[in-house]
Amino acid sequence: MNRSLLISTGIGCGVLCSYCPQASIGMAYKQFNGPRKMSFDLFKQCTDKLPKDVTVDFTGYYEPFLNPDCTQMILYAHQIGLAVRLSTTVMGLTAQQVDQFKHIPFTKFAVHLPDTKGLTRIIVDEAYLQAFQRLIDCSISNMAFHVHEGNEGPEAPHAIVDAVLRAHGLEPENRWINTRAGNIEIKGRKPPERLLGELAMCPRIYQNVLMPSGDVALCCMDWTLAHVIGNLVEGDYEALFEGPVFQEVLRGYKDDAIDILCRTCEVARTREQVEKQTRLQQFVAETQAIREGLIESGQSN
Ligand code: SF4
Ligand code: SF4
Repeated sequence: MNRSLLISTGIGCGVLCSYCPQASIGMAYKQFNGPRKMSFDLFKQCTDKLPKDVTVDFTGYYEPFLNPDCTQMILYAHQIGLAVRLSTTVMGLTAQQVDQFKHIPFTKFAVHLPDTKGLTRIIVDEAYLQAFQRLIDCSISNMAFHVHEGNEGPEAPHAIVDAVLRAHGLEPENRWINTRAGNIEIKGRKPPERLLGELAMCPRIYQNVLMPSGDVALCCMDWTLAHVIGNLVEGDYEALFEGPVFQEVLRGYKDDAIDILCRTCEVARTREQVEKQTRLQQFVAETQAIREGLIESGQSN
């Protein structure tokens, strides 16, 4: 089981991507009365409690580098022996910061690119281009680039950024957008239908989001904070999964009378759907093996 703690270094992300439910998380977070930006002290207090198999993943509900302490947090997580992942739009990042963390063996460093239609508010200015270029020049480990599609389908990166990528032979991935478990409307697309029956276990139930208050939300799809499984300042890591909220989510996986976010999430699958898919894959693999056997023995036409 891959476990990670997603770090939302703040709440109220100023990048304001058009497909991001920032209003929902802003409203929902009010109930916790916590600061909008995560302090280094809180980060340290919480990561000190993590078992060593838990990856620290800078993502969540906020652009990590809009918090000026993000670099210090990355260095600290690495120093205490935790694997580090990160996802950024490069907003708030400087070339000098890149020099500070370039030696870190990130298990993934995802760069979300500006697009041609302004679906994100990533500002491509001198500071952006310097930081972006430095990331490429430093060959940050496991770095990958992606652009999110809009309502009209696949999107291309901003022309200047695209030229930099091409000059280095780098190809970005195009990612689809989803309603984030029904938290945003996408023109021309129906909201996800509520799944019935037993759900197949989603790995993201162990990829929880730490917020600046120390409260931990179920996953990166929980923009209304429907399932806050505990507080990592008050309790320890394993207690998050023993508490009543997480246990209720587990019961909701089996019992569709219990309303859990996973039932209206694009990522979720029912156990039946997964079993059907597995049988189909087995059938395709077996058919392929028989065909190859026939070709090898010269019996194929
Ligand atoms: S950068 Fe990430 S968190 Fe911020 S608005 Fe865009 S998608 Fe949302
Ligand atoms: S199914 Fe969706 S809401 Fe449930 S844990 Fe997975 S990603 Fe989160």
